[in-house]
Amino acid sequence: MTSSALSWRNGAKGLADALKNLVFPPVCVSCKKVGSLLCTDCYGRIQWLSEPLCPQCGRIVADSLSICYVCRKRPLPLTKIRAATLFADPVPQIIHNMKYNGYHALAEPLADLMVKAWTQWQFNIDLVLPVPLHPDRQKKRGYNQSTLLTKHMCRQLSLPYDLEAISRPRHTSPQVGLNAHDRLTNVRGAFRANAAKVTGKNILLIDDVCTTGATLAAAAEALLAVGAKSVSGYCTARAM
Ligand SMILES: [Zn+2]
Ligand SMILES: [Zn+2]
Repeated sequence: MTSSALSWRNGAKGLADALKNLVFPPVCVSCKKVGSLLCTDCYGRIQWLSEPLCPQCGRIVADSLSICYVCRKRPLPLTKIRAATLFADPVPQIIHNMKYNGYHALAEPLADLMVKAWTQWQFNIDLVLPVPLHPDRQKKRGYNQSTLLTKHMCRQLSLPYDLEAISRPRHTSPQVGLNAHDRLTNVRGAFRANAAKVTGKNILLIDDVCTTGATLAAAAEALLAVGAKSVSGYCTARAM
């Protein structure tokens, strides 16, 4: 596309957005104040994560010199897991609306949080992949929130991503309400990775929330089994 065609398209999109906002002004998903999807007051309540964190799973620890007691007991197949924010008010509400209430536009401000926190984590990666949903769940929801987060984040950071390098052919029940052990059993073997796309590469998996890391671990196992060099995980929010 030529630059003038591109700027015309951007201009038209800007006009369309302005008209849409005039008719349906955006409302803060957390406090319902009119003006933006996430108002400045609610944005100010976000709890950002920072070191010291467990070098592997990203749990908050007193010092990050060695891996935490959970990782010592059950080492993760991932090099490291990091998240932009704590899974605490107002983030759970925003993520819930993105996933279950059809507000897929919220993937943009959520990906922005991941971009803002990005540089401090020092990931060494070649390719970014969203954690896939089972096709039936994606069809029901209409989108995969992790794919939207991946696209928005990678475009801003100029990172290469692939939406088909890993799939989820086995249906699993939701992880909510399961303990750490049952979460692992529930998702083990659920993923299939495409060797041609991932062999020899340092992979970064993207998901919205990390709780025990079981889903990321199962996806990482599938990637490592076909020759990925390393797998790390990056989420919008970390439940502690
Ligand atoms: Zn608000
Ligand atoms: Zn740990």
